[in-house]
Amino acid sequence: MEKIANYIDGQLVEPTSKNYLENVNPATGKVYSLIPDSTDHDIELAYQAAAAAFPAWSTTSINDRSAVLSRIADLINHNLHELALAESIDNGKPVSLATQVDIPRAESNIRFFATAIQHFASEAHIMEDKAINYTNRKPIGVVGCISPWNLPLYLFTWKIAPALAAGNCVIAKPSEITPMTAYLLSKLCIEAGLPKGVLNIVHGLGAKCGNAMVAHKKIKAISFTGGTTTGAHIASIAAPMFKKLSLELGGKNPNVIFADCDFDKMIATTVRSSFSNQGQICLCGSRILIERPIYEKFKTAFLEKVNKMTVGNPLSPETRMGAVVSEGHMNKVLSYIELAKQEGGTVLTGGSRVTLEGENKDGYFIAPTVIEGLGPNCRTNQEEIFGPVVTIAPFDTVEEAVENANSTMYGLAATLWTSDLSKAHKVAAQIDSGIVWINTWLLRDLRTPFGGVKSSGVGREGGFEALKFFTEAQNVCIEL
Ligand code: NDP
Repeated sequence: MEKIANYIDGQLVEPTSKNYLENVNPATGKVYSLIPDSTDHDIELAYQAAAAAFPAWSTTSINDRSAVLSRIADLINHNLHELALAESIDNGKPVSLATQVDIPRAESNIRFFATAIQHFASEAHIMEDKAINYTNRKPIGVVGCISPWNLPLYLFTWKIAPALAAGNCVIAKPSEITPMTAYLLSKLCIEAGLPKGVLNIVHGLGAKCGNAMVAHKKIKAISFTGGTTTGAHIASIAAPMFKKLSLELGGKNPNVIFADCDFDKMIATTVRSSFSNQGQICLCGSRILIERPIYEKFKTAFLEKVNKMTVGNPLSPETRMGAVVSEGHMNKVLSYIELAKQEGGTVLTGGSRVTLEGENKDGYFIAPTVIEGLGPNCRTNQEEIFGPVVTIAPFDTVEEAVENANSTMYGLAATLWTSDLSKAHKVAAQIDSGIVWINTWLLRDLRTPFGGVKSSGVGREGGFEALKFFTEAQNVCIEL
């Protein structure tokens, strides 16, 4: 059985404990590889390697840093199919999605920051004839990046690319549930000639090696994407140590659909925004609010499309709905469907585990589920389910839609559907979220600020925001 290795000081190495965890293929329910069960000793080794590499990497010319990152991006491109297959097996997502979205985006993330660093500039503040101030943006040092399982290589590279481009050395921990593509990336980093110690990838449990990274006194910044509860725990350790913190956390995103929208485009996109990646994207819209005049029309058209979605083997090229990531997560999602029923909701379609045949008979599959009849304040509509489950509800006025959209503790993203641009702008401004899409969903420009408000996080990723996070601004004042 394949044993995943840590990547420390440029080498693929065993965990110091020699202990391994089982890695399960969620589409078969079978263990198919072993993951290092790393501890604080492995984090310390990674720290020593990163600290030793920092003086040279932080003073390597921007062109040279950019060149090695571009080589890694090229190698991701050359290995697209192998990486997509690995991502699909590890995560349960359709291989078509991994081929079209996850892996190309991982390549783009690295290529984007390899070039962004060449255009990154800082400010000067001139005090007429008295003085000149300039802002010197210096790499921070050794930084930690922690990423979740839903978009494994995509979110892993979204963090490490700006950190490395800005001249930091990195210790990164992928989710223990989906470690495979980060491991394959470590091989590509070696092939690309990334100097040893610049990036260190330590695999294992969040509560063990992830926690050790957050608590390490000399790791100066933590960039974390994951659940809100974990984010709060990380902040409670890192904040008193005055570490820089970027927290991209959970969401419970509203889709607000007005009667004057382009109906066909809205329906097609809403199916995607509800169930892509089995609903396991932090940006998926899980609370669909529909203006009452088109509620019944929406319901009929939406259910017709959802009922045509087949859940299948993620490795079949035609599959659009694969497995959810783990047995534990499947049970959590199913328990929310039961809760929705107890809260008075009606399951219009789906609502249960799907049992496939053959090698997928023990896989963790859930039918796409649509629920109606629930008010905004019940737990089903307040808590993040993070699976193929959406609720639908009518609204009568703009004020009611906005109040409902803003009624959760989250504020990551929202989607609005209307052909009245003036209304769209006004409503967008009233929504408490870091991202609003109008008449589209998941259209991403990597230069834009990305992140949430309220319990969806602190800080912004993307573009120069990420490069600012991964640098310390020092003001230098020269009297004339
Ligand atoms: P978790 O919070 O459980 O885990 C995220 C990462 O943190 C994993 O690598 C995990 O390791 C690690 N971790 C867990 N506990 C600790 C700890 N005490 N110290 C340090 N690291 C720790 O999230 P999930 O992996 O379940 O991901 C799903 C969540 O991520 C959802 O809430 C989703 O909304 C959110 N998300 C947010 C996004 C955003 O941009 N805002 C984007 C994508 C997802 P391990 O796996 O080993 O436990």
